[in-house]
Amino acid sequence: MDKQATVIGAGIVGVCCALHLQREGYKVRLVEKGEPGMKASFGNSGSFGTASCVPFAMPGVLKKVPKMLFDSESPLKLRWGHVPRALPWFLRFIAAARPSRVEEIAAARNSLLVHTHAGYAPLIEGADARQWVRDDGLMMTFESEGTFHNAAYALDLRRRNGVHMDILDGNEARQMEPALSPKVIKVVSLPDVNRTIDPFRLCSALAMDFLRRGGEIVNAEVRGFEVGGEGPTKIVTDRGPIDVETVVLAAGVWSRPLAKQLGTSVPLEAERGYHVMFANQGFELRRALVSADRSVSIAHMHEGIRATGVAEFAPPDAAPDMRIADMVMRHARALVPALKGEPASKWMGPRPSHPDSKPVIGRSPRHKNVLFAFGHDHLGLTMAGITGKLVAELATGKPTTVDLTPFRPDRF
Ligand SMILES: Cc1cc2nc3c(=O)[nH]c(=O)nc-3n(C[C@H](O)[C@H](O)[C@H](O)COP(=O)(O)OP(=O)(O)OC[C@H]3O[C@@H](n4cnc5c(N)ncnc54)[C@H](O)[C@@H]3O)c2cc1C
Repeated sequence: MDKQATVIGAGIVGVCCALHLQREGYKVRLVEKGEPGMKASFGNSGSFGTASCVPFAMPGVLKKVPKMLFDSESPLKLRWGHVPRALPWFLRFIAAARPSRVEEIAAARNSLLVHTHAGYAPLIEGADARQWVRDDGLMMTFESEGTFHNAAYALDLRRRNGVHMDILDGNEARQMEPALSPKVIKVVSLPDVNRTIDPFRLCSALAMDFLRRGGEIVNAEVRGFEVGGEGPTKIVTDRGPIDVETVVLAAGVWSRPLAKQLGTSVPLEAERGYHVMFANQGFELRRALVSADRSVSIAHMHEGIRATGVAEFAPPDAAPDMRIADMVMRHARALVPALKGEPASKWMGPRPSHPDSKPVIGRSPRHKNVLFAFGHDHLGLTMAGITGKLVAELATGKPTTVDLTPFRPDRF
């Protein structure tokens, strides 16, 4: 084992990269400034979103955004002080909503999504972490014919990308999930979508397995690089410099300034999401629920029922605005009226998002010993396994399982 790799960031993406690199014979060090899995990877909805090829910028978005920004109950939030920084991102986002780009982006996202299982299976099996995974499917709910009609293009895009779905009426859906509101009149059932009942525990189990296999986790913040003729030779951390051979940058939304120091500019922004947890509810939800009308997701997790939602554009480390979590709670109660009492906890996590709804996965254009793996927006949990596999293939020089052209770091 004489090949050595250093992965920056121990969220779900960094941990999966580290495990796949180990399987290719690398001695791997993960460098994490906090605790593994405690940032965006901690409190997400837990869906392996294999049906989520549809990008976030869709035709017609330009008309919708201004209204959404001024509606207090809308899932889109923007801190006004953040406008100058976020504006270029939004301009690219609008450009990505052109119909031809949407088709191309959906196909690219799908090229990763079809390998979700192949990317994760060896890692979950190797860590004996199957207990954190359920195969119960997901339901998208609709409370009016209008919302269902508006989703027609997105549903067709899914279908054309090979997603299996069944359309049910509200009563059929309530037979399967009795807690659903009587307001729900239609449901798109996605029986093949599976999920984890605790994304943090899954990430922790994988990180423990990484350690068991001889990996090292260094608790330090990476602040820069010492670069020689062949690329970085050291990472500079708050605990001193560390020698490096292959470097993988997988620091979620915080990858942007580090990529910039390595000579690559990426339009990566924090799309901050919120969750509320309800404990001891006395009823069960088998499937994950996603409301098309309310843009919230609800799922029964290991420690209670979790409702998630919102895209808030703000600096990643700014204090959370828990009034937004309260809005998520109101929408969750409207979809599942049996949800009672105050939430046991509230949380915010920054999704690392590019305006074209695609991650960056690829070799640094400037340094051949640096690989980038960040910007997985709403699908970082889903895509982490295959991202790790692709990073390990790039590191060893093998042909990659997926064509990485759409994910190139210099595409912006
Ligand atoms: C509300 C919500 C719901 C979601 N639902 C889903 C879902 O159902 N399915 C799905 O697939 N995805 C979902 N996501 C998205 C998913 O959570 C993220 O895409 C994913 O967690 C990103 O993982 P990451 O490893 O890239 O980033 P992170 O988990 O943020 O990890 C990055 C790590 O890098 C570390 N780091 C940063 N800078 C440095 C540095 N300089 N030095 C050392 N360490 C550093 C950080 O401390 C952190 O631990 C959701 C997100 C949110 C917020």
